[in-house]
This record gives sequence, structure tokens and C-alpha cells, in this order.
Amino acid sequence: MVRPKTEEEIALMRENAILVSKTLAVVGKAVAPGVTTLELNRLAETYIRDHGAIPSFLGYEGFPAALCISVNDTVVHGFPSDYVLKEGDIVSVDCGTLYKGYNGDSAYTFPVGEVDAETRKLLETTKASLFKGIEKAVDGNRIGDIGHAVQSYAESAGFSVVRELEGHGIGRHMHENPGVPNYGRPGSGPKLVSGMTICIEPMINAGTRGVYLAKNGWEVHTADHKNSAHFELTVVVRKGVPEVLSTFDYIEKSDVEF
Ligand code: MG
Ligand code: MG
Repeated sequence: MVRPKTEEEIALMRENAILVSKTLAVVGKAVAPGVTTLELNRLAETYIRDHGAIPSFLGYEGFPAALCISVNDTVVHGFPSDYVLKEGDIVSVDCGTLYKGYNGDSAYTFPVGEVDAETRKLLETTKASLFKGIEKAVDGNRIGDIGHAVQSYAESAGFSVVRELEGHGIGRHMHENPGVPNYGRPGSGPKLVSGMTICIEPMINAGTRGVYLAKNGWEVHTADHKNSAHFELTVVVRKGVPEVLSTFDYIEKSDVEF
């Protein structure tokens, strides 16, 4: 049984989600041809620690960095490295923080310089599929309603949904129940209850949905080596309209100061 969060807990998670959102924006400002993914990781870790939080991915089951940074055909869980970003790449940045005992977790896929039209469509579709899923995160719906909304939107645009990985509940632990798949049947799965906090995180492939695990045991790649995109937000299930705790506004709106 999933325990809905109290409003006091949600208030702490709201603060944390904003910190994660700002961290992603700090990283996004630095994304450019010629920058290494290790440099992006360093910027994020510094920002997180300067704001009194802990980068929760670092050391999580042995993960070696503050961020998961996944370039092009890497779906998720990429290691920051001395790889130098180049024009036309896409870079998925996934960030987790621990703050006042609660977890935050969000992700964004950035284009590096100009990307081709198909890649831009992949990014736009993946982000839009996330918001389609969020719309379903209301009291009385079921987990399958979220997955179905994500899947039907992404597939109708001609892309495919990774099934081996999924979103999750979040709170004192980074990964709590329920799992939140990005595919499913309407009306199936656990019931959504007001106060549940979940991360919705579609991973959408330009080509086929197949993936494989790299030899390092972490990095997930597309089987056909075509691009994959990943967007994630933390959401509170509410009656009527869900509350989105994290935001892409710091990334996308130049008039939002932080
Ligand atoms: Mg994440
Ligand atoms: Mg997550």
C-alpha cells in the first residue's frame, strides 16, 4: 500500500523539486559544443552542495557521479566522462537531490547547438508525452492511465517507448512504489490517490524500442543506436488537477530569474 504524503512532506519536496529544476537550468546554460559531460556534472554537484543539498545519485548502488548524462543513443544512466559535446548531439541530464530528508528527481534532454528536424521532433514529442501523462495523475485514475497517455502520444508521432525502465513513487526514498510505466492500458494498475508523489519520466526512442545494457552495468543504449530522449518531472496526485512540483521554466523561460 502506498502512503500518500502529508502537506508538510509535500512542502519540503516542493522546495527540493525547485532546487533540482534550477540545477538542470544551470547545466542547460553550459550545454554547448566543446564542453565535456564531466564539466556539466561538476557544475551540478557544486550548485547542489552550495544550496545545502546532497547529490543523491552519487554512490547510489555504486553510481559514480552526481548526474546521469546520456548522449544520443544512450537512453539513461550515462556516466559523465571526457566526451566532448558536438553540434547536433542531444544530451539527457537526469538530476537527483536529497534535501531535508526527501528526494527530488527530474530530467531534461538538451539539444547541443542546432539539431536536425527529426531530432527536434523527438525532443518535442517526448516532452509533450510527459505532459500528457501528467494530465492523468489525478485522484481516482490508475497508473495505466498515465502510461497509456504517454505511449499513445509518442507512438502516434512515429516514435517508440522504452519498456525496460519506468517512473516511480518518490519521497524519503528516491524510488518508491508504485512503478510508473510509460505504456499501459487505461484503467489498469494501482489506483492513484491524492497526496501520492510520483516521477513520470518517458524514455522515447527515435527508432525501435529495444535497448541493451552496457558492459559497465549501468548505461542503457538503444539497440539500433538511434537517438533517445528523456524528460522527467515530479508530480503530486491531486483531485481534479495534478500539482507539478518540478518545472522546466528555469530552463525555457529567459525571464525567470534564479
Ligand atoms: Mg531521474
Ligand atoms: Mg526518476
